[in-house]
Amino acid sequence: MSSPTLPAPLLGSDEIQPCHLEASSIATVRLLTGIDKPLSYSIPESIRQEVFIGSLVWVPLGPRRSLAVVQKWGMSDNRFPASQLKPLIAPVYPFPVLTSDLILLAQWMQVYYAAGQDRILEAMIPAAVRRGMGLKQVALLSLKKRLNPDELKVLCRRAPQQAALYTFIVEQTQREFIPRDEAMREAKVSSQICKALVQKEILEETSQTADKIAYADDLGNSEVASTQHWTLSTGQQTAVNNILDLLKEKDFRTHLVHGITGSGKTEVYLQAIKQTLDAGGSALFLVPEVALTPQTLSRLRARLQKEHGVQTLLWHSRLSDGERLHAWHALVTGQARVVVGARSAVFAPLRNLRLIIVDEEHEPAYKQDEVPRYHGRDVAVYRAKLCGAVCVLGSATPALESLYNVQNGKYTLSRMNQRIDDRELPLIHVVNMTREVMGGGGSTPILSRLLIDKTLDRLEKGEQVILFLNRRGHSTSMLCQECGWAALCEHCSVTLTWHRTDNQLHCHLCGESYRAHQACPECNSKKIHWRGFGTQRIEEQLKKQFSTARIARLDADVVRRKDAFREILGDFRRGKLDLLIGTQMIAKGLDFPNVTLVGLISADLSLHTPDFRAAERTFQLVVQVAGRAGRGDRAGEVVLQSFQPDSDPIQFARHGDFDGFLKEELLRRKRYNYPPYRRLIQHLFRGRNPDKVGFYAEQWVAFLKTTIEQKGLCSDMEIRGPAPAPLEKIKDYYRYQVWYFSPQVSRTIVELQSIRHHFKREAEVIDVLDVDPMDLS
Ligand code: ADP
Ligand code: ZN
Ligand code: ZN
Repeated sequence: MSSPTLPAPLLGSDEIQPCHLEASSIATVRLLTGIDKPLSYSIPESIRQEVFIGSLVWVPLGPRRSLAVVQKWGMSDNRFPASQLKPLIAPVYPFPVLTSDLILLAQWMQVYYAAGQDRILEAMIPAAVRRGMGLKQVALLSLKKRLNPDELKVLCRRAPQQAALYTFIVEQTQREFIPRDEAMREAKVSSQICKALVQKEILEETSQTADKIAYADDLGNSEVASTQHWTLSTGQQTAVNNILDLLKEKDFRTHLVHGITGSGKTEVYLQAIKQTLDAGGSALFLVPEVALTPQTLSRLRARLQKEHGVQTLLWHSRLSDGERLHAWHALVTGQARVVVGARSAVFAPLRNLRLIIVDEEHEPAYKQDEVPRYHGRDVAVYRAKLCGAVCVLGSATPALESLYNVQNGKYTLSRMNQRIDDRELPLIHVVNMTREVMGGGGSTPILSRLLIDKTLDRLEKGEQVILFLNRRGHSTSMLCQECGWAALCEHCSVTLTWHRTDNQLHCHLCGESYRAHQACPECNSKKIHWRGFGTQRIEEQLKKQFSTARIARLDADVVRRKDAFREILGDFRRGKLDLLIGTQMIAKGLDFPNVTLVGLISADLSLHTPDFRAAERTFQLVVQVAGRAGRGDRAGEVVLQSFQPDSDPIQFARHGDFDGFLKEELLRRKRYNYPPYRRLIQHLFRGRNPDKVGFYAEQWVAFLKTTIEQKGLCSDMEIRGPAPAPLEKIKDYYRYQVWYFSPQVSRTIVELQSIRHHFKREAEVIDVLDVDPMDLS
């Protein structure tokens, strides 16, 4: 593979020193795949100017060659004489792909999250970069000739694949150039099909000009971007001053901005970023979900790009290879200094990183649920520590862990208790659903009288309404009334959800779908009934009840269609929709001034999960959802439906009593010695044979306890389990859990790993450690 031609980075930064300046001729590297331990190679004289700490290099490995990252100069161990080392083959790029802090971060994560260094490096380096792809190799397609409807019809008939590709390209209204790889993947066509359309001069293929890649122009809501200069509110001013003071110290600090919904946190972040840029540093802005990145990006761009000429980049897992590569290149060469992104952006190779912002820091979405199972917020804090940067965590409902860190002095705090322009927080009505009965029947309705009346009222006034229900699909279970049979997934231990849209039963865990039954498969009775409700059913009912209203639904099923999220939110923002029904997806971060009523259809859902954070989650959900109302000139109202209206989290949230909730919840956690008082490590075991999994987990715990006794390791660790996980079976794998509680993670992990090393493995059981788990199911 030839080394791509890219402009050299802005050298001269003290961070990147090629090895010839270090007078070293030996590099210790980590392979990206294969052997998970450091290996040493000599560096041939001819390439010494091009090899840096953090460089991606080809190394010989047996008869083949392999990709690796340079971690340090010198030998990994001194068992071999240096003269026997094999030479490196070549660097893939003439500059480093990782900054030096990222290399240290990878080493820390390896220990802390008990993950292989190879998996961590894989998460840090974009796939396109790992393949040694160069910008010049990105082929782009663009539309040359638009077909009229008749021509398109002919194309559809004669060459359906060409028509599919054509349609995909036409649908990318926001982007002029689409990377060919992405188009082929998304339209599911071969390069032959691309060629055919290019020959017909319907599409055009260009292959150079990487800067034409519209790598981040998918901003459906650029209207939100406004560059006006506000006078800061008192709360904002204090928070900004606090952060600027920390930035001046040029030292690692973590600062929590606890600002109620609508208090203007984004403006505070913007001021901090601006200060950072003025001082020559770069800044990273994390949001919990990819879906929230466009809105944040447009706000940042409107200010930073237009007013200060600073490039702001988008960085998340759903960028195409071309987009990724472009963003990555702009960073490593120092052209861009601000990155907005979801979890994986915490690894964006920004130079001279001075500020990391983690918005909505309480969000469980920051935790990655596959190896490496890292928490984006916590990694951000540690990266800031390595860079001597300031980490700003922001939320209207901070995680208990973060508030606890304020209490014990680890973090400093700014509180913003007023909404912008002293707008009122919405009034929250709690409806006791046990008292709601349907007309004649006696069963509980889905929507309460109050919610219906208030919705009607808003619709009449031309104001907008958002309804939340954190459950998609139509009906959540299908039961036989004669024999009690329930439709379960064949591969998982959950009931199936019926989706009206395709009249199929879906498993929300594994994605399997089944034909809906006409009769009970056990007793043949026709008396099968749907129970429970999801967003599809609400949408259906709303359309009946408010027949003239313009209604849309936003949930994981809808956003499967590319651009749906952006389009629907765009329409809602522009007033083309009156009522939006959605899941958690729309519960946070969004700012719609015309929304004056928010309904939380089932506030109890999160209350009943088998999780010690259930109360915290419920409290956060209610506060966040309520925060979507009354963000404009008119006051907002919230209707919250619950079967347990008196429960603590609902009552504390209703009164906006953060301190009360914190105090009570910390007491409860203390009583059971749960996080934040101790750290939790979850050990997951899974395999296809339930007996084997259970037995293996038992054996392990017995072995662990004996070793602890004999060797005095993990002395302050409490072990609970093994026990079957709440979701006993997922995708045909049976699951067991063991929990470890410990005051200190790193040491416990090291000791656990060394014990695990001596335990005899069972090939049919997979086990993995999850540190600070967010998902206990
Ligand atoms: P939060 O993230 O705290 O919920 P936002 O940052 O979304 O709040 O701000 C709420 C609204 O107030 C936004 O529409 C924002 O543009 C506006 N805003 C922020 N600061 C000011 C200010 N100082 N004066 C007027 N409007 C402001
Ligand atoms: Zn039956
Ligand atoms: Zn399933």
